[in-house]
Amino acid sequence: NPRIYLQFNITLFGRKDRLILVHDVTRLKQLEEMRKDFVANVSHELRTPLTVISGYVETMQAASEMLPPRWGRMLQQMSEQSHRMENLLKDLLMLSRLETGENEQAQPVALQPLLEAIRRDAASLSSNKHTLSLSIDHDQKLMGFYNELRSAFSNLVFNAVKYTPEGGHVKLHWYSEGGKGYFSVTDNGIGIAHHHIPRLTERFYRADPSRSIATGGTGLGLAIVKHVLLHHDGELQISSEEGKGSTFTCVFPGSRLSDTSAPGQ
Ligand code: ADP
Repeated sequence: NPRIYLQFNITLFGRKDRLILVHDVTRLKQLEEMRKDFVANVSHELRTPLTVISGYVETMQAASEMLPPRWGRMLQQMSEQSHRMENLLKDLLMLSRLETGENEQAQPVALQPLLEAIRRDAASLSSNKHTLSLSIDHDQKLMGFYNELRSAFSNLVFNAVKYTPEGGHVKLHWYSEGGKGYFSVTDNGIGIAHHHIPRLTERFYRADPSRSIATGGTGLGLAIVKHVLLHHDGELQISSEEGKGSTFTCVFPGSRLSDTSAPGQ
């Protein structure tokens, strides 16, 4: 059975002794597994009915000239809300997959084309209302999982756009230092109060719930980033100042990096 061992070296009446506490965590593990399975199954089961509803809403929208004008607005609301739900389910499924750690084979992922694609997507999300720059100091490949990395990096860059007023700057930067690889996303947006920072990667935690929901967020983005980085033996660093902006940095170990010129890659 899974157990936690705690070992203490103690000195009692001048005699050295050892105290070992054993805690059986089988039940906790089982509950955690049940929670994961439940979330994965519910997300999966909800997908099909939602696809049917979205499909019909779209069909009705295409014929909206035959309907009273008020209906058009209602259909628009229905379409927006079903998209929100689709995004939520997509994020929940991604998190469940990350948690269950399905065993795909890691591949060398070329960073330059990946980051360029993300910059382009973010420019379209921002409707070119932000300045988005990308600099790559050292063109490298990262041993890992393309879809996960794309999702994690996109979440950080899209957040930077979402939480930065129009006219702001978002800088994407890949660099290496001391053998490690870093991807940082810096914005000069609304920033985050210090007390929120340690909790940001929790599921559904939001520094400003009303704003986050208005920007179409699911509240799962940074939880996904954290799990993707764990899956790549990396970590997320966050620094931010309210009213000034934020920097989110992904740190990767050197063991996962190779130069683009490396043979066979
Ligand atoms: P959401 O879908 O709400 O954006 P995330 O998990 O991606 O969920 O982010 C969690 C919270 O962290 C957000 O609700 C927001 O309050 C804060 N946040 C994330 N990125 C930024 C940023 N670049 N600037 C300011 N706040 C941010």
